[in-house]
Amino acid sequence: MEMKTTDLALIEKNDLFSDIDFESVKYMLEHCILRTLKAGERLIEPDSQNEHLHLILEGSLNVYLLEKESQQYTVLSAGECVGEISIVDGKYPSALVIAAEASRILSIPIDTVWSLLNNSHQVAGNLLGILVSRMRNDNKAIINSTIREKLFEQQAYIDALTGVYNRHWMNKAFPRTIQRCMRNKKPFGVMVLDIDHFKKINDAHGHLVGDAALKSIARCVQENLRPQDLLVRYGGEEFAVLLAEANLAEATMVAERLRSKVEKNEIRSRAIEVRATLSIGITMTQNTDDLDHLIHEADQALYLAKQRGRNRIEIYQ
Ligand code: GH3
Ligand code: MG
Ligand code: MG
Repeated sequence: MEMKTTDLALIEKNDLFSDIDFESVKYMLEHCILRTLKAGERLIEPDSQNEHLHLILEGSLNVYLLEKESQQYTVLSAGECVGEISIVDGKYPSALVIAAEASRILSIPIDTVWSLLNNSHQVAGNLLGILVSRMRNDNKAIINSTIREKLFEQQAYIDALTGVYNRHWMNKAFPRTIQRCMRNKKPFGVMVLDIDHFKKINDAHGHLVGDAALKSIARCVQENLRPQDLLVRYGGEEFAVLLAEANLAEATMVAERLRSKVEKNEIRSRAIEVRATLSIGITMTQNTDDLDHLIHEADQALYLAKQRGRNRIEIYQ
């Protein structure tokens, strides 16, 4: 077909022809088709053979990896091309491509693409460059989505208020550490901590001060654990700790440190200063990995600590 000089100028600017003596390849474009797409019109569909390499002369195209309803993958604009992968491997296209706005396209038939590649090393080099940059972008997208997934996973395991891990994480992480202790034939303990008369803090100063107290106590506990201990917010104002590789004396020492640090910890919020104490129940073992059962035993010890006056530690017998 006859092409206008203005169109030829746009074609020459396409990535496929960059750094090329365009005059020497121009004659091969006689079987190409110039098309105008309306916004929303489909250019390439995943379920039908694509027989052209499409150069975008004007406008832009949206690329979707699945359906139109799925998240848009990328936008291609004037100077870029699309369809090259299915041209090279002869398979169905892997994406859905739809005009984002009124666009003008030069569609090069597959035979012409191969003639161009056979006749010009530079066109072949440019096409390779285009394919490679697609691969790089794909890799980047994969890496980003993996990172996003990891972040998302992490957020799902962290308690938003206190920033410590939640119960969901406990069910994943505690059994692993318990297994390790058992393999190494080391004793370990599970500890349940409950803030004393926490309702009174809420009632006297309001929920926001209560929240600040929870945060402050969570931090105080976290700072006074040993590095190998695992802390989670177990419920409202209750925390659970896995004391990894600890005997009774070590567990009691850690618990006593937490109790006394929290007792001394000043909680300041909205010009109010409050203090709180902890009751702690502990159970020790080296031969069971039944987490529910261990928590239950620690809870019973906690109950005893409450009964016996609070701000104290009890060991499950
Ligand atoms: P005890 O010494 O027997 O443990 O008394 P308590 O008042 O601490 O015990 P209880 O378990 O009856 O009450 C806990 C309170 O903690 C009830 C609930 O309103 C409060 N609470 C739970 N989660 C949160 C929270 O995220 N923020 C605030 N501000 N309060 C909370
Ligand atoms: Mg409670
Ligand atoms: Mg309480």
